[in-house]
Amino acid sequence: MPSLPAHARVVIIGGGIVGCSVAYHLARRGCTDVLLLERQRLTCGTTWHAAGLLGQLRATHNLTRLAQYTTELYAGLERETGQATGFRQCGSIAVAASEARLEELERGAAMARGFGLEAQILSPAAAQERWPLLSTEGLLGAVFLPKDGQTNPVDTTQALARGARAAGVRIMENLAVTGIRTASGRVTGVVTVEGEVSADAVVNCAGMWAREVGGWVDVTVPLHAAEHFYIVTQPIAGLSSGLPVLRDADACSYFKEDTGKLLVGWFEPRAKPWAERGIPEGFAFEQLPADLAHIEPLFAAAMRRVPALESAGVQVFFNGPESFTPDDRYLLGETPELRGLYVAAGFNSIGIQSAGGAGRVLADWIIDGHPPFDLWDVDIRRCVPFQRNKRYLRDRTVESLGLLYAMHWPFRQPESARGVRRSTLHDRLASAGACFGEVAGFERPNWFAAPGMPPRYEYSYGRQNWFGQSAAEHQAVREQVGLFDQSSFAKFVLKGRDAARVLGRLSANEVDVPIGRIVYTQWLNERGGIEADLTLTREAEDAYLIVTSCATQTRDFAWLCRGIPADARAVAVDVSSAYAVLGLMGPRSRELLGTLTDTDLSTAAFPFATSRLIDLGYARVRASRITYVGELGYELYIPTEFAQSVYDAIIEAGQPLRLRLAGYHALNSLRLEKAYRHWGHDIGDEDTPIEAGLGFAVAWNKPVSFIGREALSRQREQGARRRLVALALEGTDRLLYHNEPIWRDGELVGRITSGMFGHTVGAALGLGYLESPAVPVSDEWIAAGRYEVEVGTQRIPARVSLRAFYDPGAERVRV
Ligand SMILES: Cc1cc2nc3c(=O)[nH]c(=O)nc-3n(C[C@H](O)[C@H](O)[C@H](O)COP(=O)(O)OP(=O)(O)OC[C@H]3O[C@@H](n4cnc5c(N)ncnc54)[C@H](O)[C@@H]3O)c2cc1C
Repeated sequence: MPSLPAHARVVIIGGGIVGCSVAYHLARRGCTDVLLLERQRLTCGTTWHAAGLLGQLRATHNLTRLAQYTTELYAGLERETGQATGFRQCGSIAVAASEARLEELERGAAMARGFGLEAQILSPAAAQERWPLLSTEGLLGAVFLPKDGQTNPVDTTQALARGARAAGVRIMENLAVTGIRTASGRVTGVVTVEGEVSADAVVNCAGMWAREVGGWVDVTVPLHAAEHFYIVTQPIAGLSSGLPVLRDADACSYFKEDTGKLLVGWFEPRAKPWAERGIPEGFAFEQLPADLAHIEPLFAAAMRRVPALESAGVQVFFNGPESFTPDDRYLLGETPELRGLYVAAGFNSIGIQSAGGAGRVLADWIIDGHPPFDLWDVDIRRCVPFQRNKRYLRDRTVESLGLLYAMHWPFRQPESARGVRRSTLHDRLASAGACFGEVAGFERPNWFAAPGMPPRYEYSYGRQNWFGQSAAEHQAVREQVGLFDQSSFAKFVLKGRDAARVLGRLSANEVDVPIGRIVYTQWLNERGGIEADLTLTREAEDAYLIVTSCATQTRDFAWLCRGIPADARAVAVDVSSAYAVLGLMGPRSRELLGTLTDTDLSTAAFPFATSRLIDLGYARVRASRITYVGELGYELYIPTEFAQSVYDAIIEAGQPLRLRLAGYHALNSLRLEKAYRHWGHDIGDEDTPIEAGLGFAVAWNKPVSFIGREALSRQREQGARRRLVALALEGTDRLLYHNEPIWRDGELVGRITSGMFGHTVGAALGLGYLESPAVPVSDEWIAAGRYEVEVGTQRIPARVSLRAFYDPGAERVRV
């Protein structure tokens, strides 16, 4: 056993497949001063008992790229390291036993092709040809992904470890990390039972222990362990070898052939959280008690799909723990709380198929100081501090495991652990019929039910039960006036003598504006990519109110705090909970507001993009003339305890004007007609303002240079190779959600980044990038194309425009 070094450039905590992959990839990037510490033996946590399925199609292009990379990596690992891995590229078949599931699979297959992943739609009979023991009873179709595979998790981990060791990485087993050292907001090393190791970076790859490890230094790593079940049969006569993995999500089951036996596993709708009071000391290579009553109904469903199971003996009943996150996406990246501390954990039963890609991009992130491409879906900065709460995690885990195989309905909301964060207007909105959706624990009205209609979703891929209600809300905002509760906005104040200088460097737009002006801006990274999309209001010479979305609260606040130089006189405070926000939007909003305030609301006195404190009812509120719906309107920032009285006053005053409450679905439909971008969907850290059509918000000539300016200037000179456009489907009832492929003259040129029906335009709308590797994407090139969007098995003609379909000249917002 080598002795513990005093220093390593990177210390990795945990020797499961993920920790070993991070070590392997750091070494591949030439960073070999790496120490991996495992409390017991490699793979002893969750990795040793994984089923080893390797799927490649994920919900987004970048996550799919990572899973594709994993498969490619594992395919060559044995050759490279000499360690057998058990890797086989056997493909996978997913079957559909309902119309809805078939649509899900077909949409998935179109998405896969858009990602460059081969996918074939099969009839039930064709699926049976590939998988002879499959019962086709009740099946409507299937999708075959030939590049999927399977591997042996233990051997694959050992191969990664061997590759890492060969390059110089030190791996020490039976050595637990017991603490993390920090100084001035940075990680400085780890404490172990045998002494301390200083480090420039520490990576928390501690699997289901990762929450606890993060907790040592107050870092939020929201995950919880759950029991996870499979069985392995005795050899089954007639089971051919080399079969694809079979998934029947309607039966919550998957089937993997291995040496003439079947491994059958489940994702049941009600899972069993495990280790609520902590993981037992010394837990390693252990199984949990078999719970036959729990798996019996699952087993019965699996037998209906593969009747040969009825007579097959069961060799192993397996139950082992795996960690799950509140949104079923893993946790990756540098923690917002502590510089130099990275996390790769919470793999939601896809850690084997994710480890290769996750290890590679995390190694890049550590070495380069930023992710190699947009990883927002799994970025740990999407988490908020309350999500460490154990009771919340336990209750959500009951549901999240099963959601992996449940229908991935558009707009699907979790049902467990709800009602955590509520606007102060929640009860009023609920009694007005609000149906709430959740973002980062925040309950937000998505739509309002008509009297007598239950405020509950009835999901489908077509027009859901709320479509008509949301259309009426939309119409009210376009024609009269609507009221949105937008209290979930994240709000920060930056105050101090240097506030303008700090924001000037962070923001692409000019922020040194007169007091009372609102600035729409992006914060860019050095590559010109959009890290944040927000509005700043100059409240005073030395104070700004910064407003961003609820989903990016942690990320944007961390970016702001890290952007304040040590010698600057500026302090950032998160004031999100201090203000409720009401969006009063529509052509009659001024008339309505005028009945509640003496302030002169005329455009001359109170123009677009300005903000001021006004009397409203008996309160003082900040009214900002800004909009995300494309109409005259005001965002009202109301100190929280005044919000109810202000709301009541607005509702009363709104009666004669037919004021209507409106929800986030209407907001989405309104903003898509205006082609307003949404960070996280349409724009992210690998999209530049030029590509995204946001060049109007870049102040090229302002006196303070801003982060990303050089990269952006280069792109301006060379011309962008991808550009965001608005799309409208023609002659169809089909709806757009995300990732539908876009075709130009029969060639794949992009994907939909967000979609919604536009009730005024009267068509399914989307935004999406058009890419051309050959020529810069000019206005002429865009106009010359004939476009189609692929929805499931259909290619639907689409209109494409660089400008918004509704009020492209933005005349209505300035009236
Ligand atoms: C029944 C079952 C079936 C599965 N099937 C699949 C599948 O088919 N495909 C797939 O992709 N995934 C599957 N998974 C999921 C997969 O097994 C996990 O996602 C993956 O193994 C997670 O790897 P990890 O490295 O994050 O965690 P782990 O393997 O748990 O590794 C974490 C390591 O950290 C160590 N550690 C913890 N604390 C410390 C400390 N303080 N100091 C030092 N070391 C520490 C632990 O000992 C452990 O070895 C399955 C899981 C289960 C339970």
